[in-house]
Amino acid sequence: MTALQEFAAAPWRARVWVLLSAVLAVGLALALSIWPDPVWQLTDIVTALALVIGSVINVELGRLFEGGRVAQQRPHKALSAWPMAATVLLPTFYLLPVVALIYAHARWRGMRVTLWKWCASACFLVCAGAIATIIVTPPGGDGTPPTLTSGLPGVLIMVAAILTFLAVESAMLGMSGWLNTAQDEVWLRRTLADPAFYLTEAGVLTIGALTGLLGANAPWFVLLLIPVYGFLQQSVLHRPLQERATRDPKTGLLVFNAWQRLAVEEIRRMSAARRSWAVIFADIDNFRFYNQRHGHLGGDHALEHVAQIITSNVRPKDLTARFGGEEFCILLPDTVAAEAELVAQRLLTSVSAASASLPEPVTVSIGVAVVEAGNTPMELAVVLARADQALYRAKLEGRNTVRIAAPAADIDSGVRTTWDAKLNRSAHRAQYSEDGERQRRWG
Ligand code: GH3
Ligand code: MG
Ligand code: MG
Repeated sequence: MTALQEFAAAPWRARVWVLLSAVLAVGLALALSIWPDPVWQLTDIVTALALVIGSVINVELGRLFEGGRVAQQRPHKALSAWPMAATVLLPTFYLLPVVALIYAHARWRGMRVTLWKWCASACFLVCAGAIATIIVTPPGGDGTPPTLTSGLPGVLIMVAAILTFLAVESAMLGMSGWLNTAQDEVWLRRTLADPAFYLTEAGVLTIGALTGLLGANAPWFVLLLIPVYGFLQQSVLHRPLQERATRDPKTGLLVFNAWQRLAVEEIRRMSAARRSWAVIFADIDNFRFYNQRHGHLGGDHALEHVAQIITSNVRPKDLTARFGGEEFCILLPDTVAAEAELVAQRLLTSVSAASASLPEPVTVSIGVAVVEAGNTPMELAVVLARADQALYRAKLEGRNTVRIAAPAADIDSGVRTTWDAKLNRSAHRAQYSEDGERQRRWG
C-alpha cells in the first residue's frame, strides 16, 4: 500500500483530525510567533541548525546503542526535546522547519511508522511547542524567555511550559488514537495508558528545556548534555525491549514465560487468601487446514483476530497468553467453576460469531480446570495439565466445544511429568508441534 492509500484507508474522522492538526500547526506557529526584524537573523538560523544537528546526533547515537536489538524502532526517540528547546531559543515559526527536518531525518534513519501518523505526530509537536511558547514568553511580558539566572519564577515558568507541552502533545496523540480504529492504534493506546510514558516524556522535555536554557546563556555547556541524551536513549530503549520480552509480537498477548511468572505470583496470592481460580486452554480447530486454504498470512490474520476476541471477552485482571502456535491460555483469578465455564462458553460463541468477518469461520476448542477455594493448593503445572487434558477431550469429542477438567486425582503421573518438563523448557510452539504423541492423540 502506498502512503496515500494508507491514509485513505484510515477512518474519515482520523483523516479530518490529521488535516486539521496540520492547519493548526502552521497557523499556531505563525500566529504565536514574535517576529524579529529582520525576520531571518543569522544567530537564529545557526541555533535552529544546531538543534537539528543535535537531534541527528541523538538519533544516530540511539541507532548505535540499539545495534539491531529492537527490530522495529519506536516513534519515541527523544524527538520532542528539540522543539522544547526551540520554544526557549527561537521565534515560534522556527518550529516548522526544525521539526520537519528532525522528523524527516529520523524517518530516513529507519523509524518505521505509517507516514501519515508520522506527519501527524510532527504536527502535534509543533502545536505543543507553539502553545508552550505562550507560557515561556507570555503576552504582555517583555518577550524574553526565562534564563538560567531567573530564579524561582523562571523555574516555575519552565515547569508550566513543560507540562503544557506534554498536555497538548498527549491530548493530540490521544485524540488520534481515539479517532482511529482500535486495531490500528494498539500500540498508541497502550502507550498513552501507561504512566511510564508521561514520566519519560516529561524527562525528555525537561532535558530539551535545559538544552534551550543552556543554549541561550552558556552554549558550550550544552556539550555536557550529550551523555545525558545518551542516558535518555538507554531508558527509551528499555521499554520496547521489556515489551518484546513479555509480549508476543503477533498477537500482543503475553508470551508464555512471562504469563507463567505472573500466574505463579497471582496463584500464590489466591491460595493464601483461599480463593478460587481457573485456567482456560483454547486451541483453534483445524488451523492447519485454514493455513492451507488461506496461506500463512491469512492464518496470522485469523490468529490476531482470535487473540483480540479473547482479550475483549475477559476481565482486565485475567492473564492471557499465547501459549504457542494457535493455542492460548488464560488465568482467571477469583473465579469459581460455574463462572469459568461461563467465560469459556462465551469465548466459544464469540469466536465463532466474530469470525464471520474472516474468509472462513474459525472455531476453538476449550479445556477448563478450576481450583476451588479451600481445596489443597495446587501448582500451576498440575492445573495446566488438567486443562490440557480437558482440551484433548474437547478435540476428541468433536471440537468447537468446552470440556471441564476431571478432578486433580485423575491426572496420571505421566502427563504431570511431561508437563513439568515442558514448562521447564519454557514451552514453545516449535517444541509443542514436535510433540508427536499429542498430534497422534488428536489426529
Ligand atoms: P486441531 O483442531 O487438532 O487443533 O487441529 P490443528 O490443525 O489446529 O492442529 P495442529 O497442531 O495439527 O496444527 C496447528 C497449526 O497451527 C499448524 C501450524 O501451521 C499453525 N500455526 C501455528 N502457529 C502459527 C502462526 O503463528 N501463524 C499461522 N498462520 N499458523 C500457525
Ligand atoms: Mg489447533
Ligand atoms: Mg494446537
